[in-house]
Amino acid sequence: MTSAIDEKIEPLFQEVLNRNPGETEFHQAVREVLESLGPVLVKYPEFAHHKIIERICEPERQIIFRVPWIDDKGQVQINRGFRVEFNSSLGPYKGGLRFHPSVYLGIIKFLGFEQIFKNALTGLPIGGGKGGSDFDPKGRSDAEIMRFCQSFMTELYRHIGEHTDVPAGDIGVGGREIGYLFGQYKRITNRWEAGVLTGKGLTWGGSLVRTEATGYGAVFFVDEMLKVRKDSFDGKICSVSGSGNVAIYTTEKIHQLGGKVVTLSDSGGYIYDEKGVDLDLVKQLKEIERRRISEYVKYHKDAKYVAGGNIWEIPCQVAMPSATQNEINGADAKLLVDNGCIAVGEGANMPTTPEGVRVFLDAGIAYGPGKAANAGGVATSALEMQQNATRDSWSFEYTEERLKKIMKNIHQSCYETAEEFGTPGNYVIGANCAGFIRVAKAMLAMGVI
Ligand code: NDP
Repeated sequence: MTSAIDEKIEPLFQEVLNRNPGETEFHQAVREVLESLGPVLVKYPEFAHHKIIERICEPERQIIFRVPWIDDKGQVQINRGFRVEFNSSLGPYKGGLRFHPSVYLGIIKFLGFEQIFKNALTGLPIGGGKGGSDFDPKGRSDAEIMRFCQSFMTELYRHIGEHTDVPAGDIGVGGREIGYLFGQYKRITNRWEAGVLTGKGLTWGGSLVRTEATGYGAVFFVDEMLKVRKDSFDGKICSVSGSGNVAIYTTEKIHQLGGKVVTLSDSGGYIYDEKGVDLDLVKQLKEIERRRISEYVKYHKDAKYVAGGNIWEIPCQVAMPSATQNEINGADAKLLVDNGCIAVGEGANMPTTPEGVRVFLDAGIAYGPGKAANAGGVATSALEMQQNATRDSWSFEYTEERLKKIMKNIHQSCYETAEEFGTPGNYVIGANCAGFIRVAKAMLAMGVI
């Protein structure tokens, strides 16, 4: 079940369906934004007159390319690469690269579309884009990863640049991959152009706090939602899904704020550690040894691993989905609410289905959608660009303080915009409208382009 789209906007959504057949995740992301926009068009009729919605739903540029590479057995492998440069009204296209076998155009377009509004919410000068490949890094050697990244960049380099398009990481793309991609860009262009990629290593242009930023930022956002309700993380039992970059640093910040994370997962299953997840062990297993989360229970005999289980069946007060899209459906959301969950902060992009979102909103719990809650990653990427441009390098404390302030501002902007449009406490409407209005005003100012 989904909410209604305003009758003036419905035909525009039908047009998106017709023009982009089979791209179900993209349809879902567009629908979720369009459902919020009815009152915006009443306040700003000029947006309709200038066809802002129609233009915003059509990427400025979509690049699809072949990525051939040779594996360790000497076999030729062929993958498909994507970069969707969605909207550059507010700044150069900015958004991560995802390497995962499920990647196809519809996934990249959903992520790129979300990215436009997320980036607008940060208040920083960045447009929206996203890219990636159907390459599966699991089980690949370092040498294979390097050859793949080099081949990927051999095509991508001609489309990106510090003033044009600045990719970063996402699922399957972390510090190692950014290093190989940057090396190949430097080699082909003969330019040491720090601002072309973010998420770089700390000794060669990276920013402190970028690794932690998405997870920390998501927790700061939830903390702000809890403060509105005169509550905090202190003593809260929390459930986090995934065990990658976002999940690890979400867990770290929750522990620092006095909460207890009792779950983590990967695509094989989840772990439950009633005493609280041992994060040093998780970092060793995942960041250094690149092993599966199931191996956690070899070191903590009283924790349990549930293969293929549903992580959301574990009762918690705060849930932070940090793995992938559509990981919480309507039934999962109901289970969470029935078990006493009072707040949900999305570290992942679009992790809750429309049915799940409806359950959270109807229950009146604090629900922070991904485009607001996980904007800390891209915001800190923009801070990395700022440091690169001024050849400066900020301390951890200073950068984290900037991140915290940005997340507080995003929360405030979503909160106030929700009130302005008559839906207090609804961060979905707040985030969609605040992000959309900022982009739409810039598009209006720049004419029909
Ligand atoms: P990582 O690759 O570091 O980790 C992803 C984690 O999610 C892994 O534990 C992975 O398990 C799990 N996962 C991925 N796909 C699935 C699936 N289909 N089913 C179950 N589990 C799955 O990625 P990130 O932590 O960087 O990204 C996680 C989410 O956060 C994504 O939605 C991403 O778009 C979003 N995000 C990330 C940002 C960043 O800065 N990195 C910024 C904003 C949002 P397995 O190893 O088994 O695949």
